[in-house]
Amino acid sequence: MHNKLILLFSLLLFMGCNKAPNKAITKAPKNVILLISDGTGLSQISAAYYYKNTPPNYSRFEHTGLITTHSSREDITDSAASGTAFASGEKTYNGAVGVLEDSTKVENIVEIASKKGVKTGVVSTSSITHATPASFYAHVTDRDFEEQIALQLLNSEIDYFAGGGKKFFQNKMDEINLFNSKKAKEFHIDTLQISPYESIKSHKKQGFILSDDGMPKMSEGRGDFLSKATMLGVEFLHQNDTAFFLMSEGSQIDWAGHDNDVNYLISELIDFDELIGRVLDFAEQDGETLVVVTSDHETGGFTLAGENYITNEGKTYSSYKKLEPKFSTGGHSATLVPVFAYGPGAEQFSGVYDNTDIFHKIIQLAGWTQ
Ligand code: MG
Ligand code: ZN
Repeated sequence: MHNKLILLFSLLLFMGCNKAPNKAITKAPKNVILLISDGTGLSQISAAYYYKNTPPNYSRFEHTGLITTHSSREDITDSAASGTAFASGEKTYNGAVGVLEDSTKVENIVEIASKKGVKTGVVSTSSITHATPASFYAHVTDRDFEEQIALQLLNSEIDYFAGGGKKFFQNKMDEINLFNSKKAKEFHIDTLQISPYESIKSHKKQGFILSDDGMPKMSEGRGDFLSKATMLGVEFLHQNDTAFFLMSEGSQIDWAGHDNDVNYLISELIDFDELIGRVLDFAEQDGETLVVVTSDHETGGFTLAGENYITNEGKTYSSYKKLEPKFSTGGHSATLVPVFAYGPGAEQFSGVYDNTDIFHKIIQLAGWTQ
């Protein structure tokens, strides 16, 4: 009995010394990182389990849920209505960014949190003025007004942004270069590459606009932009232990779904899974950060079907041995999409609820209610 206790004690001691202990999980999150994979249903996520060479980071979550995604008018949402649901907790029509059915502005989480002294940022692999990131800082009746959205970004509370979309700032219809505007001067805006933390840390606000429209595909050399820009944002916003909210989007899983392009989809999904890994590594060490990972809707009606084959009798069967993923639509679908959460309050994201509840849960847990 005595020996067994000593053995147990030594084992615990050994396990304890093995790794620097993570900070204890606090009750309420101080920081929130929202990761959105545009157009990603359960089948897209499942693809990581069959096509990624290393264990998917999705497996690191203990708390999962499902959300309904319909818009105020349509069964099938678009990214603007669903982005507005996440950012403002309100249902609106497809195409609407930060405005309600009657076109009135609805306050977003960036506006709400920044009043509490929280630093805020957005990162995407689309143009930074695209519907999903725009929902977190802009108010327009139509998502296609990207030049207006660009102007609103510079006038917003956002402290850090990274993505594409140079043409919506520089080559506008009215020939006004927004990079020369007074508001843009509050930012340090880089258009060539992501800089090291040391060279941006003293800037008041920081932006990176690295392509004319969307960022390149993974297959065209985007590299680790998404992870790098996100983790730099975390470091920049969290200086001196300041509370922060950061939304980072894997935008092109949706585009691959629209294109019905399996290889494009898988490479973008794996890039997003890498981002999850980096963010969870940070959150585990930090202990005060809530991480929520979800999607605005599913795209493509994607399914991990088996390869079709024809028997000797001429019948078509589907193989159970070899996968041949297929799509059922070139648009979005109405399927429920998964939610994954880690950190203080993560258990609140279990269950089946609506996309607008993501907003309400986050601001309640973080204490950002008005
Ligand atoms: Mg998007
Ligand atoms: Zn889409």
